[in-house]
Amino acid sequence: MQRRPLIAGNWKMNGLAAHLEEVDAIAALAAEKPTVDVALFLPATLIARAVPRAGVVAIGGQDVHGETHGAFTGNVSAAMLHDVGATAVLVGHSERRTYHGETSPDVAIKAAQGHAHGLSVVLCVGEDAAVRNEGKAEQWVSDQLLASLPADADPEWLTIAYEPIWAIGTGVIPTIDEIAAMHGALRSALRGVIGDKADTMRILYGGSVTGDNAPDILGLDDVDGALVGGASLTAAKFAPIIAAA
Ligand code: PEP
Repeated sequence: MQRRPLIAGNWKMNGLAAHLEEVDAIAALAAEKPTVDVALFLPATLIARAVPRAGVVAIGGQDVHGETHGAFTGNVSAAMLHDVGATAVLVGHSERRTYHGETSPDVAIKAAQGHAHGLSVVLCVGEDAAVRNEGKAEQWVSDQLLASLPADADPEWLTIAYEPIWAIGTGVIPTIDEIAAMHGALRSALRGVIGDKADTMRILYGGSVTGDNAPDILGLDDVDGALVGGASLTAAKFAPIIAAA
C-alpha cells in the first residue's frame, strides 16, 4: 500500500525569531521534494511568523487544549492555532504525557479538537524502557494507541507517530526489526478499529532519527515517515532525512 511519506520536525521549546531562517531553508528543501509531505511543529510564539515563510511546509502547534475556550491560563485552543495559520497539531507527545500528566483519554479529546477546527493531527504513542525490557512493548503501545484514538479517527486527517520514550533525544534507537514489528502491530491494532482505513493511515517513527539512520528506518514497509526532534532544528541536519523519504 502506497502512503505518501511525512517528515515532521518538532522544535520543542527551541527557537527565537533568528531561527526562522531555518524555516526558509526547510521550505526550500520541501519544495524540491514534492513526493514528500513536510511539517514543522513549532513553539506557539513562532507559528504566525513562520506561516508566511513556510511554502509547502505545514506549520503546526505542539499541543492543544481539549476545551474550545475558557479559564485555562497558558493554554492554546485549536481555534487559536487555526487562527494564526497553523494547519496541524501534535498531540500526546511523551513529554506532554510525562511532564503534564496527559492521559490517553485526554489525548483523544485533543485530537478530536484539532480535527474539529480543521487541523491535521499527529498523535504520538510509545513505551518507556521498563515496558520494552519486560518484552511487552507491542501490546502496551497498541493498547495506548487504542485508548488515545478519537472516535472518528480517519487517515484523511490523522497520522500516528510511534516514539519509544527511551529513544527520544538519546541517540539510541530500536533495531530495524523492532521498529518493523511495532509498526506492524500498530497497523493491525488500527485495523481492528477502523478496518481497511488502517491501510492508508500513516505511521511515523520518532526517536533519535538522523540522516545516518533515516534510510534504513524509512525503507521499512510500514514506516511512513519520521517525527524528528533535534535533527529538525537546522535545515542542514533535516535535509538528509527529507532526502531519504
Ligand atoms: C521528538 O521529540 O519527538 C523526538 C523524536 O526527538 P529526537 O529526534 O531528538 O529524539
